[in-house]
Amino acid sequence: MLIAIDGPSASGKGTIARKLADHFKLPYLDTGLLYRWVALNLKQQNKAADDVASATKAAIHLRQHIKTISFDDPDLRSHAISQPSSQVAAMPEVRRELVELQQSFAGQAGGAVLDGRDIGTVIAPHAKIKLFITASAEKRAERRFKELQNKGETTTYDAVLTDLQARDARDETRTTAPSKIAADAVKLDTSDLNVDEAFQAALKIVNSQRNT
Ligand code: C5P
Repeated sequence: MLIAIDGPSASGKGTIARKLADHFKLPYLDTGLLYRWVALNLKQQNKAADDVASATKAAIHLRQHIKTISFDDPDLRSHAISQPSSQVAAMPEVRRELVELQQSFAGQAGGAVLDGRDIGTVIAPHAKIKLFITASAEKRAERRFKELQNKGETTTYDAVLTDLQARDARDETRTTAPSKIAADAVKLDTSDLNVDEAFQAALKIVNSQRNT
């Protein structure tokens, strides 16, 4: 049972993916963390986020050491790493290094849940179950702002909205694996849904797709 979930940031896709993984007892991979790890690695080496050679080197390191690398560093999900992660994710050289490990995660015998931007289109185009989770930019910015505030980050709603819109634009217009809905994915708009309503709606879609 392979569940492919895509959508823009703060659409609720991570929460839905995690809940679906718990529900069906499947392993879960948040693929955004891979690009965030590359971006954080560059920052820690004082390298610029547009340094293709260093980003590629970091991605190779990630690919080679994926089993021992920890994704627990809270900085990975920080606001400061969001833009640079979308910059490195636009580099074909970086994406190329990270495709295989995502595909092998998706190919596990019992199935898996993956979320990202290109799961239904590039990583697992053969997946039978595909969701595209979305929400208005304002709702997404509101959620992300609250989340960052709860973590003690000092930022503003406007800064978060601008950041989300810039990332959406970069993710949707890049030439390699742009963020888009797969032709056979079902779209779920979570703008007016709470967490439980969004999960129930996603579960309904998954159950109907697995039975077709
Ligand atoms: O999902 P999250 O916002 O954590 O992802 C960080 C960045 O990684 C995104 O803005 C996007 O540019 C990139 N990404 C991607 N493909 C994926 C997952 C994330 O390009 N499958």
